[in-house]
Parts: sequence; C-alpha cells; structure tokens
Amino acid sequence: MYQRRTAVRRRKSRLPSYAFVLAVVSFMLAFAFPPEQPDEPSARTLPVRSLSAAACSVPPPVSQGAEPSIPSSDGEDGWMLTLVNPWNPLPEDYACTLTRLSSGHSVDERCYPDLQAMMDACRAAGLKPVICSSYRSREKQEELFQNKVNRLIAQGYSQERAKAEAAKSVALPGTSEHQLGLAVDIVDLSNQNLDSTQETTAVQQWLMAHSWEYGFILRYPNDKSDLTGIIYEPWHYRYVGKDAAAEIYRQGLCLEEYLEQTA
Ligand SMILES: [Zn+2]
Repeated sequence: MYQRRTAVRRRKSRLPSYAFVLAVVSFMLAFAFPPEQPDEPSARTLPVRSLSAAACSVPPPVSQGAEPSIPSSDGEDGWMLTLVNPWNPLPEDYACTLTRLSSGHSVDERCYPDLQAMMDACRAAGLKPVICSSYRSREKQEELFQNKVNRLIAQGYSQERAKAEAAKSVALPGTSEHQLGLAVDIVDLSNQNLDSTQETTAVQQWLMAHSWEYGFILRYPNDKSDLTGIIYEPWHYRYVGKDAAAEIYRQGLCLEEYLEQTA
C-alpha cells in the first residue's frame, strides 16, 4: 500500500540586491537564526487536520490580529483547506451541511455560492459545463471503489493488486474529497469521458484558467501524482477559498505543497 510521502521544502531568497544595509543585517541574523535544512526531503509528514462530526457546523473562531497574507489550515478558514488524501482520511462520522443543486448534486453549503458563480460565468462564456459528481457519502464511495476492484479482478488482477490499482483512480473510502462536499467533477457536455482527453475541451480550458477566481483548484495536476496520491484528473475541482486558490494557481502548487508551505 502507500507509504507516507515527504515533501520538499522550498527555500526562497528574499534578499534585495540593492540594499547593502539589509544585507549586513541579514548576515547578522543568519548567525542568530541558522537556516533550516536546505533543499532536502523533509522527514515531516503531511499535516493532518483534526475533524469532528460537527466540523461543518462549528462557527469559525474569531481571527486574531491582522489577516494573514496567506491563508493556512489553522486559520478561521481552515475548513476550506481540510486535507483529504490517501494518507489523511476523514473520520468515519464526518458530516457537513449540504446544499442541493438543481441538477440533483449536492455540495457543502459554504462553497455553493462560489460554485454557482463559477458555473454561471463558464456558461456566460458560451460553454456547457456539466457537473457529473459532487458530494458522496462514505457508502457511495465504498460502492464505487468495490466496483473498480471487481472490474480489475475480472481483467485478471489478484485481489491485492486490484485494490492497489483501483486506489490510483478511485479513492479508498474515507480518503475521497468528494466525501468533504468541497469537490466537484466537471466535464464538457461534448465530452463526458473521465480521461486525459478532457483537458482539451473548451470547458476544461476555461476552468483551468479561471476556477481559481472562484476559489476552486484543479486538485490533481499532471505532474503531482506522487504528492496527491491520485492520477491526473483534469475534471476534479476542489474548493479551497479564493485566497488559497489564487496562491496555488500563481505558484503552480498542489494542495499538499501549499499546506506544507503554510504550515
Ligand atoms: Zn472527483
């Protein structure tokens, strides 16, 4: 099965080239505060968010002092940044308040206004986005996973190999973001296949360029599978809030990298 992955901590030099005085001060500070390990894989594991059954209904804590420039999972908007992946499962009794869309899909009520705005803007651009998956109960996720395992076994996989292979494309129950109610799969009406051809559709081109403006990120980018634990999915969008989405988009991160950066 999976091993815990490590994340590379990135270090950035912010030393202004023109400020000699600051350079001297920085030189002195370097002795007072020695730098952490350079660009080597950290032994730290990815942060785990503690959740409760009432996580969705607990009012956010009052923010202290100035607003942080980069939202973190510890702030008042921490619910938006809940990390769910193969190494960070949701508790079995996780629950949230859902809003039902006209299409019959449901999402966490807190991301509904931005999702609706994004869908409206995409349609206003002349496109035809279709939400094909949204909130899933744990039972539904178990059913999807078992169906995938059964199909692989029918193709000749052993039970163990089938489960390992299935987990690459269908999250193990408890580890799917769809159980959070903050993830939606969106496809183009003209191509509703959940495969790599989806990225060439007009809807995906629009979403990849604009989803961050509405607080959504392309959650499983092509080159981040080792960190996310999930294959490239150019249809799965995750709500993280507008501030975090803008940073993630600007820096080309996945959520795991962003949380590591802001931890
Ligand atoms: Zn999805």
